[in-house]
Amino acid sequence: MTLDDYRRFFAEEIEQVASLTSPALVEAFARVPREKFLGAPPWHVASPEKRALAAMGLAPVEYRATSEPRHLYHNIVVSVDRAKDINNGQPSALASWIQALDLQPGDRAYHLGCGVGYYTAIIAEVVGPAGSVVAIDAQPDLAARARENLSGYTHVTVQHADGGAFDPDACDAILVNAGVTHPQPLWLDRLREGGRLVVPITLAVSATIGQGIMARILRRPSGYSAAVASPVAIFNGGSLRDPEMEAPLRKALTTGALFKIKSLRREPHEAEESCLLHTPRMCLSSMAIEEHL
Ligand SMILES: [Zn+2]
Repeated sequence: MTLDDYRRFFAEEIEQVASLTSPALVEAFARVPREKFLGAPPWHVASPEKRALAAMGLAPVEYRATSEPRHLYHNIVVSVDRAKDINNGQPSALASWIQALDLQPGDRAYHLGCGVGYYTAIIAEVVGPAGSVVAIDAQPDLAARARENLSGYTHVTVQHADGGAFDPDACDAILVNAGVTHPQPLWLDRLREGGRLVVPITLAVSATIGQGIMARILRRPSGYSAAVASPVAIFNGGSLRDPEMEAPLRKALTTGALFKIKSLRREPHEAEESCLLHTPRMCLSSMAIEEHL
């Protein structure tokens, strides 16, 4: 088997594991060479579950070294920066989040926390040259690597920027690749009508890792509908976390209340029973948007 064959099989495996329904997304996984994004071998690979336990101090870190590109075509994480606990994430998880973006050819997408750019390339393949992707990373070395790795995509721009301050302009889809306490108002403003925001709302369980829900927020004419795409464990997005939100988030997540999310409300209102996470800035609610018009 050639490396192209392994990559094709990998795409089929991810299609099945992540229940992908987008042929374009499966095709992107079959096309984008993961090894080209990860620097020179040896690469250090790990099972996502073990790595998440290690990040919480519950198990030793177990990475295996390999210089064989075909080993990258499994549902595993690959270390990008051991000191900072940054990985090229689990393909099935990222695939399901990218699927939740419901990307269409010609869309403009924003990838916040692009790392070395592998999943940005997957997004770029799906929106195609008629679309565009803007990607940022808060770490200058990662942004530089992503820029180099994505230089073949003329419809992708990469910037070194802080996710709290960067303005992506109007978008059809936004993927936030770092755990936050709440969606930034600017992301909600920049979503076009019909636009999709996929964002991990997490509780920091260690200095580097948070756990919570991957929320899918859809901008509709009447407001923002919301749903849980999946549970999530993900790297903490430093500047995107409000320390004052940790306590109410702990309650909303540990009681399971946040799994009932149906809408994100921005209009001022008094706290009521349907408020799952009520703050002056915004509210995650169990009420469908039709109900509070
Ligand atoms: Zn509320």
